[in-house]
Amino acid sequence: MIKIFDTTLRDGEQSPGCSMNLHEKLQLARQLERLGVDIIEAGFPAASQGDFESVQAIARSLSKTTICGLARCTKDDIDAAYNAIKDAAYQRIHVFIATSDIHLKHKLKKTRSEVLASIAEHVGYAKSLVDDVEFSCEDASRTDLDFLCEAVAVAIKSGATTINLPDTVGYAVPEEYANMIKTVIDNVEGADQVDISVHCHNDLGMAVANSLAAVNVGATQVECTINGIGERAGNAACEEIVMALKTRNDYYGKDTSVVTTEIMRTSNLLEQITASRVSPTKPIVGKNVFAHESGIHQHGVLQEKSTYEIMDPAMIGIQEAENLVLGKHSGKHALRTKLEELGYEVDDAQIEEVFIDFKSIADSKKQIYDRDIHALMIKEYQKLSGGYELVDYSSFTSNGKESKTIIKLSNGKDTIERVGSGAGPVDAAFDCMANIVGDKFQLEDFAIHSVTRGKDALGETFLSLRSNGDVYNGKGLSNDIIKSSIIAYVNAVNQEQYKPTEDQE
Ligand SMILES: [Zn+2]
Repeated sequence: MIKIFDTTLRDGEQSPGCSMNLHEKLQLARQLERLGVDIIEAGFPAASQGDFESVQAIARSLSKTTICGLARCTKDDIDAAYNAIKDAAYQRIHVFIATSDIHLKHKLKKTRSEVLASIAEHVGYAKSLVDDVEFSCEDASRTDLDFLCEAVAVAIKSGATTINLPDTVGYAVPEEYANMIKTVIDNVEGADQVDISVHCHNDLGMAVANSLAAVNVGATQVECTINGIGERAGNAACEEIVMALKTRNDYYGKDTSVVTTEIMRTSNLLEQITASRVSPTKPIVGKNVFAHESGIHQHGVLQEKSTYEIMDPAMIGIQEAENLVLGKHSGKHALRTKLEELGYEVDDAQIEEVFIDFKSIADSKKQIYDRDIHALMIKEYQKLSGGYELVDYSSFTSNGKESKTIIKLSNGKDTIERVGSGAGPVDAAFDCMANIVGDKFQLEDFAIHSVTRGKDALGETFLSLRSNGDVYNGKGLSNDIIKSSIIAYVNAVNQEQYKPTEDQE
């Protein structure tokens, strides 16, 4: 069995615009447990109070999955990680330090022997708190191989039960990376008694290939993220690792405990939460992946699926995610049952609010799918995040003339009303928003698409704003695109209070 270590909530969350609030993290963590990953790296508790509280909330809510907290080689970091995860059913502390000369010289300003001493001290300290300790050699793929083996030997002697050898900067190629893993397994005493883990970044497009090459020579844990989100080009994508092992089981001969029919649902949920869209050609979860456009392919697939399909879409949970679920006559009970089935825990007050939104959508839309329900719920979570709220708007537009949009927002205390103008109603709405929130936000990306099929589909607006070098994503949902655009803008502005934590590993 290959252990799947999901770091969507830690490494993934560090990518620009992917920061999540506590409710969103908790929701995603519950879905990751249903997906069946073995370990959830829930965050970096020493980074901020917000991070600490999210990790603690996740540790207290899940019952089957190991919950892991990240820590640098300092007692304070390890204490924070321990305090955040100590209520979990299964606990892991993940300690890391850089081992490459380039990091030692420029970042840590430590000698090799100082690094070895720090590993012994801090892995030992983590081990005094929990049994399950993971140790990572940051930038392992650019570390001198002899020194890497020394560092791993010290970590194992000090009590580490998992050794992670990351390709932190996405520099490795598969044969070389596999050789590094194999050298460690073959030469370090006790390496065959612990889990050897890989953590690959996708800067050269080889994160999944590197991870699988390592599995082939004996790695027993893969670290990955849903939809491959993560710093820069992202991490190895969980769904690609899992489906490659499953589809090519004839070659790898290794299984995972992931429930593959939950993949699509998990991917959709993350897309909704972070408002960052999955490319249509993204392997496994992109919307074109199981679409057969060319006539020859269509003909082949109709005759016999296996002519052009190497995976059954049902295995990934695609049909289920698109199943018609509710309609305008569905009542509160049916909605609640559906929400619970999708993993949302709602209290009585919340169900009242969601039901109002559900009814207004159901009135204008005949068929409501799982994706619509997810979109609705994420809207609820974004409401909880505070900040501005849209009160009203009106828009005036005609061919050849400048459009005008008037927006009324509440900031909890006051109502603010401004007017904006532009080349069309959406442009005018954004001009108006800039008049309200100031010009420190620059519009970086903006797209509208339909949540599900049909002309009555909900319009979903994804939008990115940049401010002081940080990116904030917002999502709006409505069957009126001007409204969904304004809501997306408001939500992105409201995200500013959830800044990503500092960069690690
Ligand atoms: Zn990483």
